[in-house]
Amino acid sequence: MTEVFDCPHCGFQLWRLDRSPMCDEWVFYCVSCPRRVEVSFYDTVVNVIQNQLRSKERSNDYKALIEKIEAQLKTCSCGGHYKLTVAKRCFNCNAEVIEKDDHGSMGRGIELYPGIFYVDEDDELDLAIEVQYVEFEEKFVRRENIWKPL
Ligand SMILES: [Zn+2]
Ligand SMILES: [Zn+2]
Repeated sequence: MTEVFDCPHCGFQLWRLDRSPMCDEWVFYCVSCPRRVEVSFYDTVVNVIQNQLRSKERSNDYKALIEKIEAQLKTCSCGGHYKLTVAKRCFNCNAEVIEKDDHGSMGRGIELYPGIFYVDEDDELDLAIEVQYVEFEEKFVRRENIWKPL
């Protein structure tokens, strides 16, 4: 499912996108702001955590793995923690716009973007939008320097 809608609190346009089942990363959202962290399934720290779970606790439990990853992630610059299942917040006013138990279709994760980044397949990519997208990622999406020391 993909949907463009206005934030009910401030009117800022948002784009909700259900993640592809082909993706190979998790997206953890901050509990108190719209920032998020992308963690690859193949991240070395994820590997270490997985091995620790298997050898020490003899666990292959997905929930335990996610909890360990959440505990290992650095806190957000706002002071909040990152969680896999958490309400998604408006980029403009920080209101919760998607409930935390609202899973995407087929149980996939949900991603939220500012509405200006929504494009039809036929639309040409606008350079100005691309520049704004880079700024958006710098502000809201982290992929590096995401872990506390092991
Ligand atoms: Zn935050
Ligand atoms: Zn808003």
